[in-house]
Amino acid sequence: MNENQKIPGEKIAQIEEYLPGENTFEDNDSIRATTIGEINLDSSERLASINRQKQITVPNVGDVIIGVVEANLPSMIAIMIKFVNGKKMNSDLECICVTRHIRKKNIALAQDVVKAKIISHINGTIHATIDSPELGVLFTKCRKCFGTVVKMRDAVKCKDCGWIDDRKLSTEFGKSEFLI
Ligand SMILES: [Zn+2]
Repeated sequence: MNENQKIPGEKIAQIEEYLPGENTFEDNDSIRATTIGEINLDSSERLASINRQKQITVPNVGDVIIGVVEANLPSMIAIMIKFVNGKKMNSDLECICVTRHIRKKNIALAQDVVKAKIISHINGTIHATIDSPELGVLFTKCRKCFGTVVKMRDAVKCKDCGWIDDRKLSTEFGKSEFLI
């Protein structure tokens, strides 16, 4: 926590200097915080308030997330979570997905959009899986030329250069447009 971060009950200003603003209360000659947040002293309005801290929502086990692959390692992929159960997330939370048992050369590439299900939280790390048919890659590009690809059985083919590549595709691949 930085210096401007206040906790409930903490004194943020003197009553003779400021008026109690949002998320504060008067206590004798002090203004105190009612919530965790950043202190905001407005000297023109003479208002002392607390900007409530954005709640970080951590997805629960069983939640379905959509995210962007950040790293593509030999035995796992790291996914930056963008949506949880269809709701947009604004915090930068990552989950990892073990892929070593999936018999594919290119499960997902960095920057691919994938759908995954949260399976556990271990030591602060969020673990997910892409093992069901509806889970996996929703959007990808050609590895050679970054062209648009189309699904070909369980692989993808580039419309521009013809390169065929495998992915762990979701059954929902190509069914929706993603703007992440
Ligand atoms: Zn291509």
